[in-house]
Amino acid sequence: MKYQPTKEGYYGQFGGAFIPELLHPNVLELEDNYIKIIESKEFQDEYKALLKDYVGRPTPLYLAERLSEKYGATIYLKREDLNHTGAHKVNNTVGQILIAKKLGKTKIIAETGAGQHGVATATVCALMGLECIVFMGEKDIARQAPNVARMKMLGAKVVPALSGSKTLKDATNEAIRYWIQHPDSYYLIGSVVGPAPYPDMVARLQAIISEEMKWQLKEKTGKENPDTIIACVGGGSNAAGAFYHYLEDEEVGLVAVEAGGLGVDSGESAATSQLGQVGVIHGSKTILMQDEYGQITEPYSISAGLDYPGVGPLHAFLHETKRAEFLNATDDEALEAAFELTKLEGIIPALETAHALAVLPKMDLKKDQVIVINLSGRGDKDLETYMKHLKE
Ligand SMILES: *Cc1c(COP(=O)(O)O)cnc(C)c1O
Repeated sequence: MKYQPTKEGYYGQFGGAFIPELLHPNVLELEDNYIKIIESKEFQDEYKALLKDYVGRPTPLYLAERLSEKYGATIYLKREDLNHTGAHKVNNTVGQILIAKKLGKTKIIAETGAGQHGVATATVCALMGLECIVFMGEKDIARQAPNVARMKMLGAKVVPALSGSKTLKDATNEAIRYWIQHPDSYYLIGSVVGPAPYPDMVARLQAIISEEMKWQLKEKTGKENPDTIIACVGGGSNAAGAFYHYLEDEEVGLVAVEAGGLGVDSGESAATSQLGQVGVIHGSKTILMQDEYGQITEPYSISAGLDYPGVGPLHAFLHETKRAEFLNATDDEALEAAFELTKLEGIIPALETAHALAVLPKMDLKKDQVIVINLSGRGDKDLETYMKHLKE
């Protein structure tokens, strides 16, 4: 299994667990137990029941006829936007909260950038009656008031990160600092990033996306495999979930779309695979955007969920081995794609998701080519941005 990590959590040269000595017991505890727990019948029963009745799965696989007609291909949308809380992130938080409970943890910590993962975490903590602390950059708290309000209403404590640029990477530093001081807490990471075993654990929990795609495609087309799967990549969790059960099927094309921002060479971008170099971020060896001194550089994208300065180690490996093709879309291209999907299909996508849609015009498509686009989230949270760009 070429695209599964080693026991130490390596995908080729990427991955591993680069963490302070004091956190080794926590990570070891998780490493020793996560596969056992996830594969147990008890976990699977609870997880699948919550996904069905709480999250609203299976999410539909929808044939987008007008979009298909426009691009001359057969395009299906995997509707993760219809999940409770509006995106794929809850697949992971539901799974990890069950794992945390099985490990006897009662206090959950998380970091968040735009607040989407913070909301998904606060949601499952409310569901389970567990204490929740969310670290968030002070600047992001000011920018993302509705999500801060949601987290507070859900009972979470939102702690501002006051250091550095006061954004996501600073919130991550604060969360790790707190974890060292309170090793009894459970650190709930929101993407396929962080020290092993998080990238693999999160990928397994998001793999429900491609598990459903397989039987849904079979039902609709008679074949389990599409020709191409397209997903946007911030840290890489929705893409990992959409790719997971197809990774070893090399005839299925995988397209990962990063945020080009104002343009890859503009200095205002988050296209990590194009701009990054090998380094360590968030406890994992991967590719990340850094300056000549190895300091992490601040990424930029119009979409808050994609402006992460790294990608998870699986994606670094998919990029290096060329198993996945890495494309990018600029702010303007993403906006245009969001308006187009809305007009053609009556679906307002999240700005992150719009990046995945935006590569359709750049691809060489054929009429009978079956494409699945992972519609990672809905656009309600982005309405303010969309309104600024609405043309009559
Ligand atoms: C957070 C988010 C993303 C980016 O995160 P990944 O881990 O790369 O999936 C993409 N789409 C939506 C809707 C999100 O909320």
